Order: sequence, then structure tokens, then C-alpha cells
Amino acid sequence: MKKLYRNMRLFTPADGGRPLCGAEQANVKEIENASMLISDGIIERIGTDGEVTEGLSCSCISFEKDLKGACVIPGFVDPHTHMCFAKSREEEFGMRLAGLPYLEILARGGGILSSVNAVKKADDEQLFEATKKNVLAALSKGTTTVEIKSGYGLETKTELRMLEVIKRVGKETPADVVATFMGAHAVPLEWKKKADSFTDEILIKEMLPQIKAQGIAEFCDVFCEEGVFSVDQSRRLLKAALSLGFRIKVHADEVNDLGGAGLAAELHATSAEHLLAASEENLKAMGASGTVAVLLPATAFSLKKPYARGRDIVDWGVPVAIATDCNPGSCFCESMPFVFSLAVMNMDMTVNEALTAATLNAAYAINRADKTGSLERGKQADFVVLDGETPTVLAYHAGSTSVSEVYKLGERVA
Ligand SMILES: [Zn+2]
Repeated sequence: MKKLYRNMRLFTPADGGRPLCGAEQANVKEIENASMLISDGIIERIGTDGEVTEGLSCSCISFEKDLKGACVIPGFVDPHTHMCFAKSREEEFGMRLAGLPYLEILARGGGILSSVNAVKKADDEQLFEATKKNVLAALSKGTTTVEIKSGYGLETKTELRMLEVIKRVGKETPADVVATFMGAHAVPLEWKKKADSFTDEILIKEMLPQIKAQGIAEFCDVFCEEGVFSVDQSRRLLKAALSLGFRIKVHADEVNDLGGAGLAAELHATSAEHLLAASEENLKAMGASGTVAVLLPATAFSLKKPYARGRDIVDWGVPVAIATDCNPGSCFCESMPFVFSLAVMNMDMTVNEALTAATLNAAYAINRADKTGSLERGKQADFVVLDGETPTVLAYHAGSTSVSEVYKLGERVA
């Protein structure tokens, strides 16, 4: 049986088979008095009410709803999170506010390593409940598809356990969850000054093959940064991952211009993230390779740092996506509407560019554009009803999510 949603004001990017870049990033279709016909969660017809209802017999419609002219956009896709964690780091946030730099916290065994200890102490059920809580919070703010990385294990057993939990959260919540293996999130204390050996002996020889064998991660990611993993170590890991059939991502040039963006372009990574310090040359190379730039403005906000050059990066022809980077350390935020508003207000992206960045390009950044990211025939009926006239309300109504209803596969889920 089919569902029919009528009388909405629809805004959606149009999928042309690749992420939208340059001037195309602002191409958002607007349809007044639109309707959507859904069959088993998939959009069968979408367009003006006349186009959708033409020749349609009412006997095949099991459910019909009038959305009373409300503004509808695709469900948000959050393509970069570390939502699988056991404990918040509120106290450390206070330390940061008092002026201690992040890399120094990391060097003292804090930062990522304190989350590693918390995940090791938590049992599977505790870790599952904590992760599920974060995913449901994101869902209530309009996120219908979310990527979650491992990386608070840093040894094989716990990395596998995290990926199992991430998989289970995908099964037991309405959200679609994409799992990324990020054993290369930090160098464990016992391997300090031996990052080469950790990369070759643990990440490449031990972890990657076991994760591949269990089929519990689609992507492999690495924190390519001074004091973490070098460009050479990152290249070795990512090439090994590619050869096993993983897709790849890079945390690139967040603090220093190490060349991570250039590496992402060289290896045709699906996406590269952060990019605050990346050079213009390497960013343009990413554009040429079709690598999506995933910008994380809520992290800049939380760290009180300058924002990535969103305006320039769009203008240089690089497809831009935005994500929360939700994690217990540098950015505890699961709200895509907040990230949307920061993209518009602090990275000088237009509303239409930000909409594409939070939906279609974000779906490309996690290999889900075939299923979601835009509202078109053949894709999942994942959509959000806004409390406003246009998507501009997401930036305009400061401090409110402006999300009044969330639908996944045509079902109201929040
Ligand atoms: Zn991250």
C-alpha cells in the first residue's frame, strides 16, 4: 500500500549523479503545492500535486496526509561523527575554556585517550545505550542518516566492539548508520614515538583484515596531523584499506597544513574533513578528484577557533558538505540545524549551498546518495518538516532547531 503526502512547499537539491560543486552547489529546486507518493518507504512520485495525483486511484492509498503548506526538505545527513562514546568530557571543556591547548591535553594523556579509557571500562550495553541516546537526539533534530566512527579503542578488541555497537544502533533505531573504522584516531601511549610500528603492525596487519573479515565497517579514516599520523603513515594505511575494498576518508589539515588534503586528492578519497589549514592548491586538487570537503563549523565554534573557508572552498569548485563532528571532546553537538546556521552565518555560505551541504553532498560523503540526500523518485522518503516558510528559517530562527517533524522511509519518527 502507498502513502500520499500533499500540500507541501518542497525544497531539494537535484541529484545529477555526483556531488554538487561550484555554482551548482546552490541549485535547489522549489516546488509549491507539492505532493509525494511513497511505496514501501521509497518515493514513487514527487512533484506538483497535479503531476503526482494524475491517474492515481484512491484504492491503492492506505494513508494520506495534508501538510498544510509546510516547508519540507530532505532529512539531514550527518557525514562525520564520533557519537559512539561512553562518557562526556565536560570537565576537560572547562580546562579548555581556561586556556589549555588541545594538542597539549592530548600530549598529557587527556583528550581522545580519556575517551579510550572510558570505552574500555564500559560494557557493551552501556556503550550501546550511550550511542543510541546520541543518535536519537540527532534524529529528533532532523538527522535521518548518520556516519559514526570507531576510534576510542585503539586496540583490536575494543575497535571491533565499537563497530559492533555502531552496527547494532543502526539496526535498533530508525536512523541509517554508516560505520567508519578509525583505529588511527590517535597513537596509544604505549606506542608513543613508535607511530610507524603502530601503523604497520597493528592498524594494517592486525586491525584492517579482521574488520574486513567481519564486514562491520565501510570506511577507513585517519587523523593526519602533526603529533598524530604523518602523511606517509596515513598513505600506507589508506592504500592498505583501499586494497581490501574499504572506502577512505581523511581528517586533514585541521591544525597544520601537513598535506592531508593533497593526500585525499591523490588517493581519490571519498571525503576529507576539517581542512582549516589546507592550502588552496590542495583544496583545488580535491575538487578535481571529486573528493567532498566535509566542513565542521560546530567544532570551530566549540574550540573558539577560526572557521574553515567555506565560501572560498565552494568558489574553488570543491563539493562541500557539513557535519556535526559530534564527539565528547572538541564538539559535543548532534544538531545539524545548528551546523547549518553556522555555515550560513560564519562560513558565508548561502542558504541553498548549506542545504546541499547538509543533505545531498553529505550523502555523497558517505556513499549514500543512491538512497538519500535529495527528495526524488527512487530515493528513500526521508524528510523534515520545518516550522518556517523556507530553509532560511534554519539560520534565521537562532537557537531553535526549527524542525517540527522528522520522517524516515515515509514514517513519522520524531
Ligand atoms: Zn572527527
